[in-house]
Parts: sequence; structure tokens; C-alpha cells
Amino acid sequence: MKALVIDGPGRSRIAELPRPEPRADEVLIEVSRCGICGTDIHIYRGEYLGTYPITPGHEFSGTVVGKGSAVKGLAIGDRVAVEPNISCDSCPACLSNRQNFCENWSAVGVTLPGGMAEYVCAPEKAVFKIGMLPFASGAFVEPLSCVLHGVQKARPQLADNILVVGAGPIGLLLIKTLIATGASSITVADKNQGRLAFAKTEGGAIIHTMSSLDELPPDRYDLVVDATGAPSIMGRTIAWARPGGRILLFGVPPSGSSVSFDAFAIFRKGLEIMSSYTSVRNSIQAIRLMQSGQIDVSHLASHELPLEKFTQGIELIENGTPGVMKILMVPKAGE
Ligand SMILES: [Zn+2]
Ligand SMILES: [Zn+2]
Repeated sequence: MKALVIDGPGRSRIAELPRPEPRADEVLIEVSRCGICGTDIHIYRGEYLGTYPITPGHEFSGTVVGKGSAVKGLAIGDRVAVEPNISCDSCPACLSNRQNFCENWSAVGVTLPGGMAEYVCAPEKAVFKIGMLPFASGAFVEPLSCVLHGVQKARPQLADNILVVGAGPIGLLLIKTLIATGASSITVADKNQGRLAFAKTEGGAIIHTMSSLDELPPDRYDLVVDATGAPSIMGRTIAWARPGGRILLFGVPPSGSSVSFDAFAIFRKGLEIMSSYTSVRNSIQAIRLMQSGQIDVSHLASHELPLEKFTQGIELIENGTPGVMKILMVPKAGE
């Protein structure tokens, strides 16, 4: 089979590898769509703990084409998406329903071969049927699951006034989810005008856009969500939250970076500050919200590229090219 292999920082190639054989508890999936995520870029740039060589890709969908002897709930031909974080289900974290902090964690596309290949294996317990959902939408099950986990931690209330800073693919998934929770207004801040225009189409009258952070009113928002991971912006969220408000730091900051907060303002305003790490059993929620039409991601994929164009895809993302949202890899020619 054809697979993308990253041999080390900045070195990727297309390889011809043997098609993997599913173990007893695994299924073999023919990959249809696999999103490029910041994590894949980190792996490519050498900024992530992982071992090389690795086939990346943890945001993918496809069809079950083989299964191990112990697989009961999935059949050949099932259309599926994968929850890439594989928990051991027996360590103290797993036994306390904190599978995202599993002490024996592994992940498809990070420590295990991923979805940027024609075929990939995954354990049955991590594979979810998507029914007739388009494969391109199925590739969003994983990022949407992470967003749902974060939004549930942030506990938005009906009619909240919410600020989302950063309108990339994750910012837009956050906006879509927050609309579904009954927000009365969502202000979206991003310096990229194209992204703001895109965000505006999401929720009509309740979406307000702002291209300069300096124009955001202080002490205003019930919930402030950072989707940039930029430490300088994370520190400013304190000012925008109303007294008694909540802040969700969702964007992934560079490892080793620090944030400077107005410590007295946190006390004086009685703020709740939260972060969110991956997801905990949110895949079924993500699939249901997409199947019901409550959250429609079909237009979030701006590009579909063959595996050969992985590095071009990364350049499109890193250059902030206008019109670039989520980029999906299509491993099989003619899909
Ligand atoms: Zn991801
Ligand atoms: Zn565990």
C-alpha cells in the first residue's frame, strides 16, 4: 500500500509498505479522508515527542475492509471514523474516567501508524460508525470531539455573550458548537479578514467580527475562548471576561512558553480559567451532532490533496494562504 512516512524532522516521503494485518481486536480501514492537524505539522517539524519513522494522520474516516477474530460490533463495509487516542482502560487514570491522561497512552498517527496511508489498523473500541455521513465530515470527528470536551468543561449558559479569539478550523468548530449551546452573541476576533468573513457565515446576526484585539471591550464576555494558543493573547483574555466570567484556553501554545497574567484582575474578577486536553469519549456526541445537522462541517474542508502533496499542504497552512481552512489528504487515487 501507499503511505506517507516522516523519517525525521523535515523529511517525508511516499513509501510502498505492506498492507497491515489487523490483530484479533482490530479492524483494517481503507482510509478515505485524513485531515492535516497542527500535531502532524509538529511531528513533521520535529517539535513533538514521538518516534520516527512514523506515518502521521489521526483525523480520518474510511471503510472497514478487514477485521480480527475477536471483533464483534463492526462489519466489513462499515463507514467509520477513529478516536485516535488509545487508552489502556486499566491504569488509575482510565479507571477514574480520565482516559485522556492514560498512563499507557498510545495514539494512531502519533505513536502508531496513522491515516495518511491507504490502509490503517485500529482497535475496535476506538472505531465508530458514521452511517451515511460524508467521509469528509467523518474526518472532523476527532477535532470536533476535542472541541466538545473543551466546551463541556467551559459550561456555556443559555444566552451567553461569548468571545472566540482565532477563527481557524478549530475556532470555527468552537463557534459552531457554541451556537448549538444557545449563545446569544459570539464575537469572533482574528486579524485574517478572510477567516472573519467565513466565520460570519456561520451564525448570521449573532456573529460579530473584530479584526483588532485592541477594539474589544473590557469586562464584557461571559465566556472567553482562546483558539490561538499564542501566549501574548492568552494573557489578555483576563481583561475581556466579565466579573465572575469563565475563560477556556483551548489553543495549543508552544511547549516551554509562558503566559503573563494580571494576577490581581483574576482575583478581583473571580474568574474561572480552564484548559482542555484532547477528549474523553466524545466521538459518539460528535457524530450525532453532525448527523443531526446541528453542526455542519461540510464546507470546512477547503482542499483535498493526494499524499504526495503533504508538504505543500503544510505550506498552505503555515503561510496563512487566503481561503485555506481544513486540508484533507486523500490517500487513494480516484476517491
Ligand atoms: Zn488533531
Ligand atoms: Zn490507562
